[in-house]
This record gives sequence, C-alpha cells and structure tokens, in this order.
Amino acid sequence: MSDRRRSSPWKTPEAVRTYVSGFLWLIGILIVLGTGSPDISGWLRVRLDAAGLVFLAAALIGGWNFFPKGIRAARTLKLDMNFLMTVAIIGALLIGEPLEAAAIAFLFSLAELLEHSAVVRARNSIDELIRLTPEQATLVEQDGSESTVAASELKKGAHVRVRPGEKVPIDGRVLDGESAVDEATLTGESVPIPKRVGDPVFASTLNRDGFLEVVAVTDAGDTALDRIVRLVREAQTRRSPTEQFVTKFARYYTPAVTVLAAVTMLAPPLLGMGSALTWFVRGLTLLVIACPCALVIATPVTVVSAITSAARNGVLIKGGEYLEALGGVCAMAFDKTGTLTYGRLEVTDVVPMSGDTNEDLLGLAAVVEARSEHPIAKAIVARVGTSALQNASDGGAEVTDFRARPGRGVVARVDGTEVRVGTLELFPDLPVPDRMLELERQGKTVVLVGRDGRVAGLIALADTLRPEAPEVLRQLRRQGIHEQVMLTGDHEYVARAIAGRLGVDKVFSSLLPEEKVDAVTELVADHEGVAMVGDGVNDAPALAASSVGIAMGGVGSPAAIETADIALMADDLNMLPYSRRISRLARRLVRFNIGLALGLKLLLAAGAIGGVVSLLVAVLVGDMGASIAVTLNAMRLAHLRP
Ligand code: ADP
Ligand code: MG
Repeated sequence: MSDRRRSSPWKTPEAVRTYVSGFLWLIGILIVLGTGSPDISGWLRVRLDAAGLVFLAAALIGGWNFFPKGIRAARTLKLDMNFLMTVAIIGALLIGEPLEAAAIAFLFSLAELLEHSAVVRARNSIDELIRLTPEQATLVEQDGSESTVAASELKKGAHVRVRPGEKVPIDGRVLDGESAVDEATLTGESVPIPKRVGDPVFASTLNRDGFLEVVAVTDAGDTALDRIVRLVREAQTRRSPTEQFVTKFARYYTPAVTVLAAVTMLAPPLLGMGSALTWFVRGLTLLVIACPCALVIATPVTVVSAITSAARNGVLIKGGEYLEALGGVCAMAFDKTGTLTYGRLEVTDVVPMSGDTNEDLLGLAAVVEARSEHPIAKAIVARVGTSALQNASDGGAEVTDFRARPGRGVVARVDGTEVRVGTLELFPDLPVPDRMLELERQGKTVVLVGRDGRVAGLIALADTLRPEAPEVLRQLRRQGIHEQVMLTGDHEYVARAIAGRLGVDKVFSSLLPEEKVDAVTELVADHEGVAMVGDGVNDAPALAASSVGIAMGGVGSPAAIETADIALMADDLNMLPYSRRISRLARRLVRFNIGLALGLKLLLAAGAIGGVVSLLVAVLVGDMGASIAVTLNAMRLAHLRP
C-alpha cells in the first residue's frame, strides 16, 4: 500500500516532461504574441525562429511520453492512441505547425496524467477505510497491568481494553463490560449496536459509552475491515463486460480511423477538391479527434468509483460485472427466514397432544435441539433456558445418534427413546393435525415433536417481519424489479401469511435446500437477470445459482462475504434499494460517458472534415475535454448516499 502511495502520478518522469512541455508551449505562445503573429499557413515551412524552436522542444519533450509506445504500436500493427498522437505530431511539424504540434504533445500528456490520477485516486480512496483503525491499543497483560501497544501488532487471543470514545483496535469478543458501538465504518449505518459479554466487536468501530474488555479473535491485518479492503481491491481490478467490450472495440476502431484519416488526406486532393495541404491538416485533425482515450477510460473510471463509493457505505460489490448485473436484473428472489424476517424466532404456542405438560414437551424438544444451529432450535432452547437444559443432562438425559435433516428437522435418541422435531416429512403417514393448520394460518412456523414415532405435541414459533421489508420491496419495484419471489422451507400457509403482508408476486414454500437452487435456476432461465438475496450461509448454493447473489448482514459472517457477489455489511434491507440505485447510476453513467465520448468525437470529426475544427480545438475538446468530462461524471458516484 505504501509504495502505491509513493508513486503519485503527478511525480513521475512522465509528469515532469508534461510540465516542461507545457511551460515551453506557453513561452512559445508568449514569444509569438510579442513578435506578432507568424504566418502559419505556409507550405512545409519549418520556421527556425525562436518561437518555432521552443515549440519544437515542447513537442519533442511532451511527445517523449508516448513516441516510443506509438512506434512500437506501429511496428506490431496494433495501432493505438499513442500511435495516432505520434503521427499527428509528426504531421503537424511537417506542415510547419509547431504550435499545434506542441499543443498536441502537451495536452495529450496532460490528459493521460489526469486520467491516470483519477483512476488511482478512486482506487486509493478505499485505503481511507484502513486508516480508520486506531494506531494504538490498550493491552491487558497477564498480571492485569495495562500497556499501550501498536494495534498492528495485536495477535489472536490478546486482551484489550476499549474506553468510551475510543475505536476498537481489533476484531474480538466482549469479555467484560457493556456498551453501544457505532459500526458505521463497516456497515454504513451509524445506529449504535448494543454489545454485551460474548458479542462480537470489530476493528475500526467506535465504542460510544461503555468500558469494554475484548479478546482478539483475529490477528491484526486479518480483521473484517482488512478483508473488505482486500476484496474491494480485487474487485477494482476485474474488468466489467462493458469494459471488455470497449477494449475490443478500440482494437478495431483505431485502425479504422487511421484508414479514414488517410483517405481524407489523399482522396479529395486526388479528385481535385482542394489543396493537398488543406486535406492533410484535416486528416491530421481527424486523427487527434479519433483518439479513443475518453472512450477507453469511461467504463473503468465509473466502475471503480461506484465500487469504492458503495464499499464506504457498507455495500461490498465484488466486481464490475456484478455492479452491471445488478443494474440489469428485473427479478429478485428473497429467502424468507433471516432476510425478509429477522430470523429471530420466538416460541408462541406449546400444544401437548399425548398428556405431557408444556414444560415436558419443550424440554424433550430442547434436549435434541441443543445440538442444532437452526433458528428454530435456538428459539426452543432459549425458551427452556440453558440452565434447565443443564439440569436435564445432569439428571441423566443422554443424547445419542443425533442427526440434522436439513430443511426437515432433527432426529436423535434421548435415553434410548427416539425423538424427532421438525416438519411433517419426518412423520410419514401422519394425518395433519387440525391445530397445526390453524396455527400455520396465523403465519406461525409449527414443528412437530415426536416420541417413538408418535406425535407428542406441537410447538409454534413466530418470526418478526423486518418492518422496513414492505417499503423496500415497493421501492425495488419502482426501480424496475418487477418480479419478486419469496423462497422458503417453511410451510405454505406460513409463507402465504407473510407474503400477503409484503406483496410479493410468487411464493415457493416447503422447499428443501436443493429445491431452492432449482427454483433460482428456473427463475434465471425465465428472466434476463435474477438477483437472489439471502443470509449467505444456508443459502450459499442458491446465491451461487443466481445472476447476482446478495448476502445480508455480512460484517459478522465472513462466510457470507466470501460466497456472495454483493455483501451488505449492515443487517438492513434498505441497503438493497441503495445498491440498486448505485448500480443503475453506474450503468447510466457508463452509457452516457460512452455516448458522450463518441458523440463529441463524431461531431468534431464532421467539423474537421468540413474544415471548421482546427487542430488545436481538436486536442483541447476532442481529447482532453472528453476525458475530463467523462472523469468528472464518474465522480458523481462518490456522493451517492444510502
Ligand atoms: P427457511 O427456508 O425458512 O430458512 P429451512 O430450510 O432452514 O427454512 O427449514 C425448513 C423447515 O424445516 C423449517 O420451517 C422447519 O419446519 C424444519 N426444520 C429445519 N431445521 C429444524 C430444526 N433444527 N428443528 C425443527 N425444525 C426444523
Ligand atoms: Mg434460511
């Protein structure tokens, strides 16, 4: 990173040559103004007066930046803009236009510098994120004493103290204390998140009010923030489809223009339509205008700006191709649990069906669910309480043969008795209990608890719909995502109850994990592009099957960051419309920029052939002007906020 910083494009030898060339060009103009305008319409008249020499020097020094490249291009027949400009300068000198030759050399060099620095700046602005990590940390030694160390030297397992108002120096877990932490640097959201013992905290986030003691769970340099920055850097180097297309386009475009310029120089004079000199100048002007620089940088400069700007607002886009794809999708599939809902379930009803008490039924389920990571399992265990579970296992409840059946439930033996908790699929041949349907119509998730193959009762759980979900879906619809689909492993009734409140178009329910993948694959076949939004952990295969996989709540889950094409750092659906907005704007800007560059060049080219656009105007407007306009346009992305 540091050597990148050192190599500022404004301090390279190329830059110095550009300054010298510009300086000489100005001097030349001053001389011309002082001695009266030289006649610049003469034929092959190399003026050896003072101004002419100064211009010549300016042209050669500035041109030194691209002559070698231009000559190499000509030798390998890969005609590019360096070649065009080299020819233009030699041509301008040949016809005795040293002022123009110097102008081309200086302005083209300057334009190259500006472009280069714009891209470098956009790339480097991601480094500002890294600088958000504090430099020092308060380390707690074995004996309890404190010492101040460099945050960059913290190792996994280190104990650090974070005072109110300080930034967390490393990713860790809270060992002691309570506070609210502002995670805006990672998630883009500045609502403080409450932190208690056991909660994760992240490097660069701001400890608002409490005193926290934290144990590091990563080494310095490998925090969530570091990973984000690494991924963004990688993303910036990947070429988007448009960029690849433009590069290919330029490969045919330049030779075509060269031929056109040659025809312009030769054909009209041969047909007796004017002097050879007039048409030579016009052909030369055409060459300058045709320089594809603005065209070539239009896409990368826009894409890099968009990716960097998004990252700073908590949306990690892993490449230009995904940015472009998200702007183009017209369908979006959502996983229900954890995406449209919080995925934090609570037990609402307990219905024993063969004489157990509520506590016995819950306890039976909980002993088995204690082994599962599923939100349903966590909710049941939470309801029973870990201490009660502890007592149960101390009391001798022995769990063997535990098996998780993804999308269905869990099965195990408790003291030799087979216990199942899950969907009807775990209970073949069982008639659906009326009570189950009734609870499901209320939008609750119902699991059956079975003992030795018979149903012992039902447990109903409810999830909370994210309050922002309906509005977010409406916004997405306004943004052109017309097909919205919900995918869930939950039962049809539950799915419909929730879908009704959201206004989604289609619901696929009772899906097993592999069926979710099939559903997405089908959607992809029917639509031009389909984005899938999920939690990135359970849904990884479905995310991979979609055109753009978007994972929620990424900051706490490295797996989600890894699997998704786009990761939302905040656990907030509002980041979806923002992501769509930035990708749409980026797409529009890319197109507009390409259109602008092409349109401007076309207009100037017509003017050049007609003889109303001079060589100087061509360099100023057609080359440098277009590049600057394109770059400034791309900068607009930096200011887009969620
Ligand atoms: P979702 O698509 O809502 O994330 P899953 O595919 O994870 O759902 O699970 C689908 C269904 O399988 C759940 O609604 C539940 O009925 C059942 N199930 C899955 N795991 C468990 C578990 N550990 N305990 C009880 N039921 C489970
Ligand atoms: Mg899920």
